[in-house]
Amino acid sequence: MGRVYNFSAGPSMLPVEVLEKCASQMMDYEGSGMSVMEMSHRSPVYDKIIKDAEAALRRVMSIPDNYKVLFIQGGASQVFASVPLNLLPVGGTADYIVSGSFSGKAYKEGLKYGAVREVATSKADNFTYVPYVSREQFNPEAAYVHICYNNTIYGTKFHYVPDTGDIPLVADMSSCILSEPVDVTKFGVIYAGAQKNMAPAGLTVVIVREDLLGHARPECPTMLDWKIAADNGSMYNTPPTYPIYVAGLVFDWIENTVGGLQKMYERNKAKADLLYDYLDSQDYYKVVVRKENRSMMNVTFNSGDPDIDAKFAKESKAAGMTNLKGHRSTGGMRASIYNAMPIEGVKYLIEFMKKFAAENPKK
Ligand SMILES: *Cc1c(COP(=O)(O)O)cnc(C)c1O
Repeated sequence: MGRVYNFSAGPSMLPVEVLEKCASQMMDYEGSGMSVMEMSHRSPVYDKIIKDAEAALRRVMSIPDNYKVLFIQGGASQVFASVPLNLLPVGGTADYIVSGSFSGKAYKEGLKYGAVREVATSKADNFTYVPYVSREQFNPEAAYVHICYNNTIYGTKFHYVPDTGDIPLVADMSSCILSEPVDVTKFGVIYAGAQKNMAPAGLTVVIVREDLLGHARPECPTMLDWKIAADNGSMYNTPPTYPIYVAGLVFDWIENTVGGLQKMYERNKAKADLLYDYLDSQDYYKVVVRKENRSMMNVTFNSGDPDIDAKFAKESKAAGMTNLKGHRSTGGMRASIYNAMPIEGVKYLIEFMKKFAAENPKK
């Protein structure tokens, strides 16, 4: 069985130790005589799985008691669509920083419910940086400020946490959650699709401060109301049971195998530094995003020649690396090096890049 280095932006690699654990528990989870996939979500054995997963996430991220952790379906896209439904009062307003594709989509969802505002955007510069917004630029009347903390497609990340004063900060952390320590208290809501750094697709984690629950608009569907999810322990309906189980294993891996988020950060930083240091040391490949906004998770670069980029994608695949082709909206290449990518994968990629550059001189 050969495993490739999978640089996919999502769904993406999971830690080998977690996959092996899933395999070993597949036919009979801890003497229950069944797979976790086959279990009732109301059974005592599953109740322990979901509660243990939540407890582990709370420890790993140091989530304070006045925040609820919700395990829901629908993806990050459904959560950003339900942000205004939960937080924007009728006749109210909110501020959005648009630093990429997903934050742009989130902003469009907000526009459906009120006079929400795009407080800053880097669109004119092809999202090659993250706008800096200071406290006085936010509308004091805003019900919330929405950001996308790591821009998966463009390969940029916020280099600061916007100071929004008393306005709750809502952050899409789909592609950077659990990659480094974050101060949860600086955010009103943190949400993330699981398929980048946590689990298989199908699960979305929402971490929400308690005082932000219970303000849903009248038209908010029951299924999208975070208070309903919170009051029902994420079991108003059937939750994504198997992804929650895998997420629990991943939280445990970060806590006990890696040694916590600071250690996770050090691992990720070492990988990203290796790749960016190489990129900065040569001029065959270019990084187009601003240095201070470079993402540790999604590294974008290109050769400047679309034909060479296409050849790179093809030959890297033949060399045992998948999904290095950039997003269709940016072209070029993208190496997503999430938590589960081992440093050997990054070293292997750099060796390939050197060889490819030597063999494919530009005209
Ligand atoms: C992948 C991604 C999304 C979309 O996630 P879905 O679960 O497919 O809806 C949204 N935001 C960010 C930052 C992402 O990386």
